[in-house]
Amino acid sequence: MAATNPRTMFEKIWESHVVFQEPDCPALLYIDLHLIHEVTSPQAFQGLREKGLKVRQPSKTVATVDHIVPTTDRSLPITDPQASELIAQLRGNCRENGIELHGLESRHQGIVHVIGPELGATQPGMTVVCGDSHTATHGAFGALAFGVGTSEVEHVLATQCLLQNRPRTMEVRVEGTLPPGVTAKDVILAVIGRIGVGGGTGHAIEYTGSAFRAMSMEERMTVCNMSIEGGARAGMIAPDDATFNFLCGRPRAPQGEAWDAAVAAWRCLPGDEGARYDRSIAFDAAQLEPMITYGTNPGMAIPITAPVPDPARMEDAVRQSALRKALGYMAIEPGKPLLGRPIDVVFIGSCTNSRISDLRAAAKVLRGKKVSPKVRVLVVPGSQPIKRQAEAEGLADVFRQAGCEWREAGCSMCIAMNGDMLAPGQYSVSTSNRNFEGRQGPGGRTLLASPLTAAACALTGVVTDVRTLL
Ligand code: SF4
Repeated sequence: MAATNPRTMFEKIWESHVVFQEPDCPALLYIDLHLIHEVTSPQAFQGLREKGLKVRQPSKTVATVDHIVPTTDRSLPITDPQASELIAQLRGNCRENGIELHGLESRHQGIVHVIGPELGATQPGMTVVCGDSHTATHGAFGALAFGVGTSEVEHVLATQCLLQNRPRTMEVRVEGTLPPGVTAKDVILAVIGRIGVGGGTGHAIEYTGSAFRAMSMEERMTVCNMSIEGGARAGMIAPDDATFNFLCGRPRAPQGEAWDAAVAAWRCLPGDEGARYDRSIAFDAAQLEPMITYGTNPGMAIPITAPVPDPARMEDAVRQSALRKALGYMAIEPGKPLLGRPIDVVFIGSCTNSRISDLRAAAKVLRGKKVSPKVRVLVVPGSQPIKRQAEAEGLADVFRQAGCEWREAGCSMCIAMNGDMLAPGQYSVSTSNRNFEGRQGPGGRTLLASPLTAAACALTGVVTDVRTLL
């Protein structure tokens, strides 16, 4: 039966979490899950201490260490005193407040946006926050998930609530089947390439259409992860059987009768027939190609065979100047494709593309081959469970035999605050989500791409269209 007041999934989740709303003011939202890590939480705990406050609902907070942890041999001592200090502070804060912590010794340690879903902590219909921009990842489960600042981390720890302005809704619809060599990462790079880094500002995006329905949960996480790179507050995909199958039996997922009740409720979350979005854009999956970035934001993305845009052909002076500056930093000439350009490093990892299906995809390209001797290749699993699974499946052997470095779980070269970084002037093909100036190390130059493309580039030592190797 059609709903009399059809609502989008975002509207259903938002409205069911408003604790208090004054007219023309931000809403006070209840937060179901708060994920924390070592870098953005210490000041928040310090703030609580100074105000004499306690964590209001420790059971709704989960902590891990990821940003600053070395991804080298875990039996060695950590040599960076700042890393040791941040890890120790998180341990102390979690112990003092009774918060579940997945520290270096935990079998579940890993990148915060990888372990939340792995633990079954991320569930459909939830509000999820974390002091990290890429919290939108959890929207893949039909959750409303977004990054918050340090003062907001403190607010959520103290109250389990958060003041938020209600975003508008935006639909990104992709219908059809993705061609060979085109992945979820290429889809989201194509979306951001079209809407630009500000295209989703003030909106919560819902990804709809048969291309997303056909994706695994891991692929959906890759898509939602990069919503923030298009400026959106959040990105979400309606839950379905793929979502429930992924969550069933995980440690923090409901069990027994509670599971059945939860699934019944989750089935009511998708938007109602006739629900309206404030904006909609559509793509034909069959027209998409492997994508790569050429500039210093993720909106500077092109199909891998396309020429790099030429600022001289742009009419908008602001965009022209931004492109000139970006190409200057990247030392890339306009008007020609990037294909054949030599690279120095390949990074396969990050909360965008470090899950088991990403590693399987990269291993498929690298199996039985050797990476270019001119290229350093880091493969960094997103969590300890992924590392164990990849080792059990023989993927780690494929990487090692190909000449890659097989690392411990963490953010690694996504953010260059843990010892893994580019040297000035180096080019990397990276499966991470940000290519800002210096993101992977001062003076480093980042080309964002999928794990398939990254593996192809690792073999040849130059920017390569993976479709030529498949
Ligand atoms: S992998 Fe990168 S984007 Fe993801 S949580 Fe870590 S630093 Fe942030």
